[in-house]
Amino acid sequence: MTDTIIKIDLNKTPYENEGIHNRWHPDIPMAVMVKPGDDFIVQTYDWTGGQISNDDDAADVRDVDLSQVHFLSGPVGVEGAEPGDLLVVDILDIGALEESNWGFNGFFSKKNGGGFLTEHFPEAQKSIWDFNGMFTKSRHVPGVEFAGLIHPGLIGCLPSKEMLNEWNKREKELFDTDPERTPPLATLPYGDTAHMGKMDAETAKVAGAEAARTVPPREHGGNCDIKDLSRGSKIYFPVYVKDAGLSVGDLHFSQGDGEITFCGAIEMAGWIHMRVSLIKGGMEKYAIKNPIFKPSPITPRYDDYLIFEGISVDEDGKQHYLDVHIAYRQACLNAIEYLKKFGYSGAQAYAILGTAPVQGHISGVVDIPNACATLWLPTDVFEFDVKPGADGPTKELDGSVEVPLAPDLD
Ligand code: ZN
Repeated sequence: MTDTIIKIDLNKTPYENEGIHNRWHPDIPMAVMVKPGDDFIVQTYDWTGGQISNDDDAADVRDVDLSQVHFLSGPVGVEGAEPGDLLVVDILDIGALEESNWGFNGFFSKKNGGGFLTEHFPEAQKSIWDFNGMFTKSRHVPGVEFAGLIHPGLIGCLPSKEMLNEWNKREKELFDTDPERTPPLATLPYGDTAHMGKMDAETAKVAGAEAARTVPPREHGGNCDIKDLSRGSKIYFPVYVKDAGLSVGDLHFSQGDGEITFCGAIEMAGWIHMRVSLIKGGMEKYAIKNPIFKPSPITPRYDDYLIFEGISVDEDGKQHYLDVHIAYRQACLNAIEYLKKFGYSGAQAYAILGTAPVQGHISGVVDIPNACATLWLPTDVFEFDVKPGADGPTKELDGSVEVPLAPDLD
């Protein structure tokens, strides 16, 4: 039987668990050591550490303490790993915990977190997704069911001190260009809610105040939210510190490309079974700066799509120069308007784009002045025909069902 080397208790706060941390810092002690060739299981909290409940009230999404996230399991030390090596991680399997067979998707309030379409959905909303084996459905979003492309949203190795300093410097410089902005331009170090794993309290006070937040993806991987980095993938991570220090969390049952809803995909607590090995000196041998990976041999087969185009002209008709971010937003908004014709609310359509195995593609970046992005909506996740036809859209959805909303308080 495979050893579970980090265990969690959903009835206890992650702050009490020394196998958990929520910041990046080179001095976070290894929670546990393994050898190259070993396979093992680690359990993980959902990314908020249990702040979101399985109910029909989005107040928890509105009031979430985002300075606490993400709760990661690790760091797992790998004997013999040295800076410059590649840590090879096979994701052998991932699953939900028996006592927690559900996940959540939400949109943050614009005042607390925001999101990709926060100007269009400024208030907190939440949908709950139940797992039935490999499939998921939501009581808040009728007419869809799909197989999970299950993956960790966040996985990577500890940074070196030099790398941490560089992250802090460049992110502070960006933040300082508009320090009052809501949501902020970057999430800077914040010691009060730092959880530094096994580190003793005195050291953790100092290190926690300079440790990097886990929100952005960085050179080490981290919070990449790549749906295709799913069970069955093989990942090659750059190593920056002795023993590598592999940490993982933020498990997703399923996610659309872009994780556009931000809170987030279908978020869940769970377990991940991994095997590790090393390529000595691999970073230089293969010119690796950011992780690379091979996808799984097994993925849900959704190969029929309706593809929505978007260009870099914003909602006000303003022309932007080759801006892929704006082009993808337009593709998403076009898909939402289309789905509303079938009886979905805007929030339900947005939730589908954030959770289903939707693909996003950068289609053109040279045809001045417009970038073209496309959103690929899989037709087979719908329980009805979602394609255009001569008779127009059929509205058979239960209109009384909605994604719960929590209005802002002031
Ligand atoms: Zn996530």
